[in-house]
Amino acid sequence: MTVISRNPADPADVLLALPSPGAFAAADAVERARAAQPDWAYAGAAARSAALGAVADAIEAERTDLADLAVREVGKPLVEARAELARTVAIWRYYAQAPYEPTGAVHDTAAGPGLLLTRRRPHGVAGLVTPWNFPFAIPSWKAAPALATGNAVVLKPAPEATACALRLAELVGRALPEGLFTVVPGGATEGGALVSAADVVSFTGSSAVGRTVVRSATARGIPVQAEMGGLNAAIVLPDADPGRAAAHIAASVAGYAGQKCTATRRIVAVGAALDPLREALAEALRAVPVGDPADPSTVCGPLITETARNETGAAWQGLSVLAGGTLPDRPGWYAAPTLVEKVAPGHRLLREEVFGPVATLLPARDLDHAVRITNAARYGLVTSVHTADLDTALHGLDRLDTGMIRVNAPTTGVDFHLPFGGAKSSGYGPREQGRAALDFYTASRTYTLGSAGTV
Ligand code: NAD
Repeated sequence: MTVISRNPADPADVLLALPSPGAFAAADAVERARAAQPDWAYAGAAARSAALGAVADAIEAERTDLADLAVREVGKPLVEARAELARTVAIWRYYAQAPYEPTGAVHDTAAGPGLLLTRRRPHGVAGLVTPWNFPFAIPSWKAAPALATGNAVVLKPAPEATACALRLAELVGRALPEGLFTVVPGGATEGGALVSAADVVSFTGSSAVGRTVVRSATARGIPVQAEMGGLNAAIVLPDADPGRAAAHIAASVAGYAGQKCTATRRIVAVGAALDPLREALAEALRAVPVGDPADPSTVCGPLITETARNETGAAWQGLSVLAGGTLPDRPGWYAAPTLVEKVAPGHRLLREEVFGPVATLLPARDLDHAVRITNAARYGLVTSVHTADLDTALHGLDRLDTGMIRVNAPTTGVDFHLPFGGAKSSGYGPREQGRAALDFYTASRTYTLGSAGTV
């Protein structure tokens, strides 16, 4: 087996082709990480904080080249690639402060003299399995909190993003002691071996693979979190400005060719919102700049592989197309931003995540109906709500089965200092990011302190 990574805008441009290292490489990296971890865990807050800060500095110094690499390897439009690098630097800086945070609490005993203390401790070796679509930010938002709390890290990136991961490993490796951050390239074999050897597992990727990873980790009794696919809805109320809602939704459908877990896949128009929204949305999607991801004006670049492009094109076959519906005839794996309507319940677009720039417009009679339509999907990552009525946004949508709600904002976009994750088939286990991540990578120990009788 070979790990191959190609430029999706120019498939003849092969970035990297190397032999798959095999399951042994993952087990070996975990062993080396396990040997390095205790010294790191007991190095003290200042040493861990300084090392994470040095990683942030190293990434910041190289951010222009790293963004260009993401453009070339995963076809991310340049403006988004630069934003991902800026966020990656901010993530490392944010978690560089974490070693100074309290790791527990002090309580009185329930009865008698004495003291109760809690203290959080690292699990050991964190096994991280990541997708290709955020090649710097996702590995960083897992690795930084794991390292900040005293764990070692072994990362198995998606094959399509191997060059980015190896570059990240070089930069992180310069700032950290040997063995603490290792990248094992490869696919299912190496990913499976890592899950079988690590002490804690954090996965991001498709729901199908995520379920396999969760089964394997829970069978071993180790902590696991899985952030998976989405079939996210944007609910538009009649009081929303159709042009403004359409601009947010078009960006979430077509940005990065719809290759974000948070992309909008379904647009639920309530009552009289339908007609003005249909027009505004079709117009906004037709106006999205599609093209070379290296061009700073591009919003929708290529899809990651030929297979992904063909699956996207197949999804709208036979449907009523309001915008797009074509596969541009040019080198690279492009699909036009596409809006469809009159889609029968049970159609693939309403059941499965199609990872491309295609969305379905659905009418709803009223708010309750909109909630039922939204909840009908087995996924529950993020829902956006477009309305001028805050009461509706806060209370009327309480019954949505979704991990995140964004009011008058695109479904896409992540604030890394708050918990991030989904319900149902979109997420399993504790949330990622923010302070939630510090808890996930540690376990609490309770100390009971009695008196030695000297006072
Ligand atoms: P994928 O599920 O195909 O692969 C994810 C990772 O799992 C890769 O590193 C892959 O090599 C590895 N893998 C594959 N089989 C494995 C196995 N049997 N055991 C262990 N590891 C295995 O996903 P992808 O195509 O790289 O990424 C796209 C998917 O990621 C979409 O479904 C998207 O919604 C999801 N995603 C979710 C989030 C989120 O936070 N919810 C964020 C980004 C992407």
